[in-house]
Amino acid sequence: LLRVENVDKSYGDEEVLNGVSFEMDRGDVDVLMGPSGSGKSTMLRCINRLTDVDSGHIWLDDTDVTAPETDVNELRQEVGMVFQDFNLFAHLTALENITLGLKRVRGMGKAEARDAAADHLDQVGLAAQADSYPAELSGGQQQRVGIARALAMEPKLLLFDEPTSALDPELVGEVVDVMADLAAGGMTMLVVSHEMGFARSAADDIHFLDNGRIVESGPPEQLFERPAHDRTETFLTGLQ
Ligand code: ATP
Ligand code: MG
Repeated sequence: LLRVENVDKSYGDEEVLNGVSFEMDRGDVDVLMGPSGSGKSTMLRCINRLTDVDSGHIWLDDTDVTAPETDVNELRQEVGMVFQDFNLFAHLTALENITLGLKRVRGMGKAEARDAAADHLDQVGLAAQADSYPAELSGGQQQRVGIARALAMEPKLLLFDEPTSALDPELVGEVVDVMADLAAGGMTMLVVSHEMGFARSAADDIHFLDNGRIVESGPPEQLFERPAHDRTETFLTGLQ
């Protein structure tokens, strides 16, 4: 479903991604881990063309995401993104935050959009909060609206950029639970997160990124129990 091939990306003189390659099949859940500044967000941003690669290719099924002629709006319907800071519209209710894209991007009528949005709110356990404004919701609830909004576009792939790192510790669990449900339901997800519990239970592969390079990739038991590189071990030990 996703093939990242030898991607390089620099900002000025700084090489942020250096020969990054990995693949995901449909239904895979992969986790990107690595120190601050290692290029995790930049990797996600290249996949939905919030930024452009310098060289290499990214394939989403048969589409070369990196080709200049690729329709970025179409791409972003297929690749959803959940952000650290939720990015909800403050003046719209939870339901309206979701119906907006359904009407504008997917061309749904009002009633159809309301029904679809309500279904997705229900999916993240927020049916009762449909008419609440973001300021009336906890951080965990706001992030679940963010996830419902991304899901409503029925993407092929969902990208998560540190979805729980802005949350108070007691609110992390409810968001991780929703993500685990999605993973179990077969959603293809690429997740930047240092949540060990999620990575251990849901990840097919973890990619450890350091200084723009993938140092090591493998299933959680391999990276956590038998890391091949000292750098991986030091980093992961620091998280526990
Ligand atoms: P964090 O864990 O702090 O979120 P990260 O692994 O997501 O870090 P990136 O945000 O991808 O790291 O940034 C990688 C490097 O690229 C950093 O040194 C950052 O300063 C630089 N960088 C990122 N975006 C830009 C930009 N738009 N312009 C210039 N430099 C940038
Ligand atoms: Mg980041």
